[in-house]
Amino acid sequence: MPEYKAPLRDIKFVMNELLDSEQHYAKLEGAEDATPDMVDAIIGEGAKFCEQVLSPLNQVGDNEGCSWSEDGVKTPTGFKEAYQQYVEGGWPSMTADPNYGGQGLPHSLGLVMSEMVGTSNWSWGMYPGLSHGATNTIEAHGTEEQKQTYLTKLISGEWTGTMCLTEPHCGSDLGTLRSKAEPNADGSYAITGTKIFISAGEHDMAENIVHIVLARLPGAPEGTKGISLFIVPKNLPNEDGSSGERNAVSCGSIEHKMGIHGNATCVMNFDGAKGWLIGPENRGLNCMFTFMNTARIGTAIQGLGAAELGFQGSLAYAKERLAMRSLSGPKNPEGIADPIIVHPDVRRMLLTQKAVAEGARALIYLTAQQADIVHSGKSEEDRKAADEALGFLTPIAKAFLTEIGYESANLGMQVFGGHGFISEWGMEQNVRDARIGMIYEGTTGIQALDLLGRKVLMTQGESLKGFTKQVHVFCKENADNEQLKEFLEPLAALNKEWGDLTMKIGMTAMKNREEVGAASVDYLMYSGYAVFAYLWARMAKVALDKMADGTSEELFYNAKVQTARFYFKRMLPRAKGHAESMLAGADSLMDMPEEAFAI
Ligand SMILES: Cc1cc2nc3c(=O)[nH]c(=O)nc-3n(C[C@H](O)[C@H](O)[C@H](O)COP(=O)(O)OP(=O)(O)OC[C@H]3O[C@@H](n4cnc5c(N)ncnc54)[C@H](O)[C@@H]3O)c2cc1C
Repeated sequence: MPEYKAPLRDIKFVMNELLDSEQHYAKLEGAEDATPDMVDAIIGEGAKFCEQVLSPLNQVGDNEGCSWSEDGVKTPTGFKEAYQQYVEGGWPSMTADPNYGGQGLPHSLGLVMSEMVGTSNWSWGMYPGLSHGATNTIEAHGTEEQKQTYLTKLISGEWTGTMCLTEPHCGSDLGTLRSKAEPNADGSYAITGTKIFISAGEHDMAENIVHIVLARLPGAPEGTKGISLFIVPKNLPNEDGSSGERNAVSCGSIEHKMGIHGNATCVMNFDGAKGWLIGPENRGLNCMFTFMNTARIGTAIQGLGAAELGFQGSLAYAKERLAMRSLSGPKNPEGIADPIIVHPDVRRMLLTQKAVAEGARALIYLTAQQADIVHSGKSEEDRKAADEALGFLTPIAKAFLTEIGYESANLGMQVFGGHGFISEWGMEQNVRDARIGMIYEGTTGIQALDLLGRKVLMTQGESLKGFTKQVHVFCKENADNEQLKEFLEPLAALNKEWGDLTMKIGMTAMKNREEVGAASVDYLMYSGYAVFAYLWARMAKVALDKMADGTSEELFYNAKVQTARFYFKRMLPRAKGHAESMLAGADSLMDMPEEAFAI
């Protein structure tokens, strides 16, 4: 397993030089503490924790996995102690509401920490990651009493949280869920049903677990409009707020699975467990969206982490492993062969991972800034615009980054040749761990429908226009910059084509709704490559400007420009294939009779 090294230089490049976080934080309500010095100190401390505590546990978690018994779930060696250290360091409270013990720092700063935690040890990071979503949901929709009881404990990290949506017969289609909530005389509800695949549903790292559960009230309308949201604690809170008597919720078993072995994936049985309604009756799914948006950006980080970890491991290997000679003559004449980094194909694999990891960082931090503004923007107008941008970028970040992050993890393994397939190096674990990213929190197919159907076509393209306008302005402002031409010309063409493609699909969809589903994944991938093109062009501009002004970091900035060039020449052409496929029409998918599939 590669030892994780937090990419602090690149994190600072994206935060400070690309996205001007100082200015951004200054414009937020209540973000006064996020001064540059404070931000640096937090990231530096976070990096140490991830490198020294979490990274060494990554392979341990994979090898040992979690174990289930009647008494509960035991997490791998060291997980519990690492969580204690995390709590003592005050990390769970970083971005939470100061009224309930939080530090009130911006969400985007929390995501930088999530990136480092997730890359160093994804399985471990899911425990506090789910708590974070539960915290956000109660913060947004809970009553004052619920906040005092649950939020304070989640924020301090004494208790952790979960998200209980999926049932054996439904995950994507929550409209069909069956769990029931019967009113009790004391104003609480008795929750009955089985939830499956619940991450961190049971474990030994904290004294209590707060489940956020979707269930139906008696007589509720069918479908998504009849779902309500409940808080169901594992142990019922005592009057003094401490964790008390055991509630009727238990973990029936844990799953044996492809990756993320250190995280317990639980079957949770609710047998008339006591729960309390959060938010209005039958509006549970709307409330849950708060949770899901956080979780989706959180999952996008898994794509970034997979690319970063694969890159770190395979880069070190490619510099040391000797095999054959460079096609243009020996580069290591004293050695028996040249290091494999001299070979064009190995460079293709390394540069793909680098372009994905750094592009993903830019996209996630950009999306996180929109989340900051939605949460603490100073005007209603700013908050509304940011909400639209966030809605548009979230499915792209979640699905595109987990898809290309997985590809990158595979390339990281490929650079190692046969050794990549052997567990010792950790590259195959990275591939196995990354695979789930494309499935949970809404599969790629579901994210693509959300993007093309809900976000783009249902707004008559407004959310897309909000983004393409920014790209257009950037291209126009820099039209005279000769050095940027190689990036701006293809970017401007793509930006125009994006709108044209959307219009064409919109037209065909008016005649046949299947066209939306048939085009959606290609549309999402195309959008991802387009957003990356914009971000890589912007990163190239920052780097070129720095070099023009004179810099002692020539190598760093030059690498940015080279990686941008690689992206435009060797990855962006994939968008053309997606454009062609998305216009190919639904017929080639739908004309095949179901019975003919097996013939
Ligand atoms: C390790 C792990 C951890 C998880 N953690 C949690 C958790 O903490 N909490 C929780 O609630 N759930 C969790 N899940 C569940 C996860 O979110 C679901 O598995 C996922 O949303 C997919 O749902 P499903 O498995 O029911 O697949 P289905 O919904 O049955 O989908 C099967 C396939 O059909 C496709 N499909 C379905 N409908 C459509 C459509 N309309 N158009 C196009 N394609 C469609 C899907 O894209 C997919 O490819 C976890 C799952 C795993 C494996």
